[in-house]
Amino acid sequence: MPVKPVVNFNKCQGCPDCINKCHSHVLALRKITPQEITSLSLIGKQKAKKYPQKAYVVHPKNCTCCVSCEMVCKKGAIHITELQ
Ligand code: SF4
Ligand code: SF4
Repeated sequence: MPVKPVVNFNKCQGCPDCINKCHSHVLALRKITPQEITSLSLIGKQKAKKYPQKAYVVHPKNCTCCVSCEMVCKKGAIHITELQ
Protein backbone atom coordinates (compact mmCIF):
# COMPACT_ATOMS: atom_id res chain seq x y z
CA MET A 1 0.00 0.00 0.00
CA PRO A 2 1.54 3.40 -0.96
CA VAL A 3 2.03 5.70 2.01
CA LYS A 4 3.27 9.20 2.76
CA PRO A 5 3.99 11.25 5.86
CA VAL A 6 1.61 13.97 6.99
CA VAL A 7 2.94 16.82 9.13
CA ASN A 8 0.79 18.64 11.68
CA PHE A 9 1.98 22.25 11.41
CA ASN A 10 0.35 23.04 14.74
CA LYS A 11 2.95 20.81 16.38
CA CYS A 12 5.97 20.95 14.04
CA GLN A 13 8.81 23.13 15.25
CA GLY A 14 11.12 22.60 12.27
CA CYS A 15 13.83 21.02 14.40
CA PRO A 16 14.55 19.25 11.66
CA ASP A 17 15.18 15.69 12.94
CA CYS A 18 12.75 13.99 10.53
CA ILE A 19 14.39 15.57 7.49
CA ASN A 20 17.84 14.44 8.61
CA LYS A 21 16.51 10.94 9.26
CA CYS A 22 14.76 10.46 5.90
CA HIS A 23 17.20 8.98 3.39
CA SER A 24 14.58 9.08 0.64
CA HIS A 25 14.43 12.90 0.56
CA VAL A 26 10.69 12.94 1.08
CA LEU A 27 10.83 15.92 3.43
CA ALA A 28 12.27 19.45 3.26
CA LEU A 29 12.34 22.44 5.57
CA ARG A 30 10.43 25.50 4.34
CA LYS A 31 8.92 28.63 5.80
CA ILE A 32 5.19 28.37 6.41
CA THR A 33 3.13 30.75 4.26
CA PRO A 34 0.83 33.45 5.72
CA GLN A 35 -2.12 31.63 4.10
CA GLU A 36 -1.22 28.34 5.79
CA ILE A 37 -0.88 30.11 9.14
CA THR A 38 -4.54 31.17 8.93
CA SER A 39 -5.64 27.53 9.12
CA LEU A 40 -3.63 26.79 12.29
CA SER A 41 -5.02 26.64 15.81
CA LEU A 42 -4.50 29.62 18.11
CA ILE A 43 -1.51 27.90 19.72
CA GLY A 44 -0.26 26.86 16.29
CA LYS A 45 -0.36 30.50 15.14
CA GLN A 46 1.63 31.60 18.18
CA LYS A 47 4.15 28.80 17.61
CA ALA A 48 4.51 29.75 13.94
CA LYS A 49 5.92 33.13 14.98
CA LYS A 50 8.67 31.41 16.93
CA TYR A 51 9.07 28.43 14.59
CA PRO A 52 8.21 29.55 11.03
CA GLN A 53 10.18 26.69 9.47
CA LYS A 54 8.16 23.50 9.01
CA ALA A 55 8.75 20.05 7.56
CA TYR A 56 7.06 19.84 4.13
CA VAL A 57 6.36 16.65 2.22
CA VAL A 58 8.04 17.39 -1.11
CA HIS A 59 8.44 13.91 -2.65
CA PRO A 60 5.65 11.74 -1.18
CA LYS A 61 6.09 8.94 -3.73
CA ASN A 62 9.66 8.33 -2.48
CA CYS A 63 8.38 7.24 0.94
CA THR A 64 9.38 3.67 1.80
CA CYS A 65 7.31 3.57 5.01
CA CYS A 66 10.39 3.04 7.20
CA VAL A 67 8.62 5.16 9.88
CA SER A 68 11.94 6.71 11.00
CA CYS A 69 10.53 10.24 10.72
CA GLU A 70 7.55 9.41 12.91
CA MET A 71 9.75 7.74 15.53
CA VAL A 72 12.29 10.56 15.71
CA CYS A 73 9.81 13.44 16.08
CA LYS A 74 9.70 14.47 19.72
CA LYS A 75 6.62 16.63 19.09
CA GLY A 76 4.41 13.87 17.66
CA ALA A 77 3.96 16.09 14.61
CA ILE A 78 4.47 13.56 11.82
CA HIS A 79 2.53 10.43 10.96
CA ILE A 80 2.50 7.99 8.08
CA THR A 81 -0.77 7.67 6.24
CA GLU A 82 -2.09 6.01 3.11
CA LEU A 83 -1.24 7.87 -0.10
CA GLN A 84 -4.49 9.08 -1.69
S1 SF4 B 1 7.84 17.06 12.15
FE1 SF4 B 1 8.85 16.78 14.13
S2 SF4 B 1 10.92 16.05 13.65
FE2 SF4 B 1 10.06 16.95 11.79
S3 SF4 B 1 10.77 19.08 11.79
FE3 SF4 B 1 8.73 19.03 12.73
S4 SF4 B 1 9.12 18.86 14.93
FE4 SF4 B 1 11.02 18.28 13.89
S1 SF4 C 1 8.61 6.91 6.55
FE1 SF4 C 1 10.83 6.82 6.10
S2 SF4 C 1 10.96 7.17 3.87
FE2 SF4 C 1 8.92 7.85 4.53
S3 SF4 C 1 9.16 10.05 4.93
FE3 SF4 C 1 9.48 8.98 6.87
S4 SF4 C 1 11.70 8.66 7.05
FE4 SF4 C 1 11.21 9.16 4.90
